[in-house]
Amino acid sequence: MLTRRAFSQGLVASGTALLAQTGGKPLPAGSAPPPQKAPDQRYDLLIQGGTVVDPGQGLHTLLDVAVKDGKIAAIAANIPADRAATVVSAKDKIVTPGFIDSHVHCYDGVARCTNADHYCLGRGVTTVVDAGSAGSENIANFYKYIIRTSATRIYAFVDIGVLGVISLDHSYDNPAWVNPKAVAQAIETYRPATIGVKVRMTESVVAEKDIDTLKKAIEAAEIAQVPVMVHINGPHSPLPDLLKLLRKGDIYTHCFAGRKNFIVDAAGTVLPAALEARDRGIFFDTAQGQAHFSFDVAEKCMKQNLMPDTISTDLSNLAVQRRIYDLPTMVSKMMAIGVDLDKAIAMVTINPTRMYNFDAKIGALKTGYEADISIFELREGNFDYEDTEGKKRTGHQRLVNKAVVSRGELLINEV
Ligand SMILES: [Zn+2]
Repeated sequence: MLTRRAFSQGLVASGTALLAQTGGKPLPAGSAPPPQKAPDQRYDLLIQGGTVVDPGQGLHTLLDVAVKDGKIAAIAANIPADRAATVVSAKDKIVTPGFIDSHVHCYDGVARCTNADHYCLGRGVTTVVDAGSAGSENIANFYKYIIRTSATRIYAFVDIGVLGVISLDHSYDNPAWVNPKAVAQAIETYRPATIGVKVRMTESVVAEKDIDTLKKAIEAAEIAQVPVMVHINGPHSPLPDLLKLLRKGDIYTHCFAGRKNFIVDAAGTVLPAALEARDRGIFFDTAQGQAHFSFDVAEKCMKQNLMPDTISTDLSNLAVQRRIYDLPTMVSKMMAIGVDLDKAIAMVTINPTRMYNFDAKIGALKTGYEADISIFELREGNFDYEDTEGKKRTGHQRLVNKAVVSRGELLINEV
């Protein structure tokens, strides 16, 4: 749980309290105390002594981060503690830009969607991209009751099906349920929160209408001038037929799924069409979800230099139960199969900001950027991770969120 209370071990201390603990010599008996000089409280918050890992700036080093008025005010070595109202020690911790989950379902209360503030912000994820939980007919309520009221920054893809994920299967059966102009209009109405069009290519969702439905999603995206995010797992049509329709900047999500018509052939070779799509500028997103991530497929792809651009969870209430748990766990899982820490953190910070048209300046700890910051402990040990095929891998590190700064506000994680 996040609270504003301090860590039991005293992670948070006021600037003056911290100075008192580390202060100089005691005053000689009988002497008058020196005049009190008001500290120059230029910063609201100072995160001291952490290892800043910010791949967007090529940083992996000990630095302090100062926050003022909800923005990053300074990032430098040895910023004096007396210049901040609140000082947080991040000693032995990793300080990163607030994590960005590129694929969640957080239309809380609808279908199987989860609560972003609890499962995302509460675990170090300051920004999420909702992957088409709402369509053109219910984006208004999603915007009014979830996007605008959540502490987590939420951006949304609008599903090409009018009601998004309310009906998981057969969402596009009726031609009246797939309306490119209505989707483009919805995106226009709710900008900048709306950033793309979502469509699902799975046999049970769309069957043989997959190509036609994908074309309609692209039509909507062309009108609104946004990317399409295409869920592909077990499509009716061969994968190359779908990928060749995608445009530069579109997103292939669930790229390491292992059902029929997936990204590697029977010999374990990545399909040329996938490499060609990557070379044309199509992005690859992991999005584990309930059924969309195979270690075997991921390992084969990465061995053949097909790396994902983003690590994401496809978080939903069911996905939470199935040990996806949160984005830091997904990042740890990718580290368990060979992605190094800095590359993995890039996939949840700077990479999504290059892929999506976020209006907020996020994804890096630069002066003037939003003060969205995560503080993690990197635990060492043996940790079992599971894919959606029931296969396990053992990793030796696990990122555990300890605190988060969201829009300048410090929230402490007591787990
Ligand atoms: Zn999804």
